[in-house]
Amino acid sequence: MSNQFIVAKFGGTSVADFAAMSRCADIVLADPSIRLVVVSASSGVTNLLVAITKEDIIEGRFAHYTGIERITYAVLEKLQQQAAVGAAIEQLLLELKTLIGRTVAFTDSEKDLVQSFGERLSSVLFAQVLAERGAAVSSFDVRQVLRTDSRFGKGEPQVDQITALTQQYLAPLLNSQIIVTQGFIGADSANQTTTLGRGGSDYSAAILGEAIGAKVVQIWTDVVGIFTTDPRLTPDARCIPEISFDEAAEMATFGAKVLHPATLIPAMRQNIPVFVGSSREPEAGGTWISKQVDARPSYRAIALRKNQTLITVKSPAMLHAAGFLTRVFAILSQHQISVDLVTTSEISVALTLDDAPGSAFGTAIEPALAALREFSEVTVEQGLSLVAVIGNHLHSTRGITGSLFQALEQINMRLICHGASRHNLCFLVQDNEAPGVVKELHQALFQAA
Ligand code: ADP
Ligand code: ASP
Ligand code: MG
Repeated sequence: MSNQFIVAKFGGTSVADFAAMSRCADIVLADPSIRLVVVSASSGVTNLLVAITKEDIIEGRFAHYTGIERITYAVLEKLQQQAAVGAAIEQLLLELKTLIGRTVAFTDSEKDLVQSFGERLSSVLFAQVLAERGAAVSSFDVRQVLRTDSRFGKGEPQVDQITALTQQYLAPLLNSQIIVTQGFIGADSANQTTTLGRGGSDYSAAILGEAIGAKVVQIWTDVVGIFTTDPRLTPDARCIPEISFDEAAEMATFGAKVLHPATLIPAMRQNIPVFVGSSREPEAGGTWISKQVDARPSYRAIALRKNQTLITVKSPAMLHAAGFLTRVFAILSQHQISVDLVTTSEISVALTLDDAPGSAFGTAIEPALAALREFSEVTVEQGLSLVAVIGNHLHSTRGITGSLFQALEQINMRLICHGASRHNLCFLVQDNEAPGVVKELHQALFQAA
């Protein structure tokens, strides 16, 4: 199945408008191996679609819709052959308007259907940008192949089915042309549209890369690679030229937004190198993520994840009661709440949960807390951030140098997790202190002479 093709994914800012799409077209056309192109919705469009799904009042929905129309027409009007895609775009907009003109509240499946329009619009437009540059190109509805389960808002890709469907319907097309398809969206076995969760286009690209047996997956975005920390947090952040799958996966898991947390899972499964670069400055290089890397430094990067909640479950009964932890975790799993960090003492267990917008936190947590309160004392602290130092050999204190201990000494921490993974050391701080902590830590670990 292995072939010589490259999957190139372009994020929201990379396909924000006609000029940005043209720069992406330059990248695609410069390398004949790029055959599968995965696009995000144009920047801002998914936010507007999500806002529509949250709005009960029809006029409010249409106020957001206007923004989508404006972004879409701005690209359409710059095309030379508008007629080639005009009807398809009008058809999509009409479908969207019909859907949002309904008076009742959206079901979960309708919410995903609404959110799918961003990528469906941008893929049609970008395919036409490429066609006008002389490329043999078609747009392809990824829902034909990207099968997920029916968990709306966070569809789980069904790898075996995706591979079989891709080999049947998509792979043969790549031999003679470039295919532009949608990130972020999929369909369940009943052909209902699903989404993979916010930022999911990176994951789509990797899943499709796996399914076609790509030689490389490229993630083109608005930064020239993966940095030692989010460059928005400190101007001192440096681009990392190469990084291992393990380290990059930890970064993504712990909040480095440049990659959706699940992106590297398919890449690691098939050992497909992933390249991250800027579609604005493709010549500026980027980051290569692969299995083998020359250097494995103790400190590689710092990631930050906001909106963390710390739950402390305390029970005198925990003393010598082996069943206590089992009971706590059974309740959390029953309510589909996923726990990030865990620390225990003799009579209590502290857990962190992600309550980022769109996570299950809001709806699932209350019944879970009620169940926990039946046999223990529960406290909930919100407004926390998870800071993760990513590197190598961090699970043993031998790997940790004085500089990290020294830096940590200055920080007011709520909880620390060390030892569970060789690749990270995490701690919780107050949200408002987090950016300062990352800056200081970065200074101590990466800039000290
Ligand atoms: P796209 O729309 O292309 O998917 P995203 O906004 O999702 O782009 O991801 C790119 C952003 O990720 C950057 O603008 C940057 O602010 C942020 N980011 C967070 N952590 C890092 C990091 N360690 N290195 C690079 N970028 C990071
Ligand atoms: N358009 C989706 C979002 O904004 C998916 C993505 O950009 O990766 O979340
Ligand atoms: Mg993204």
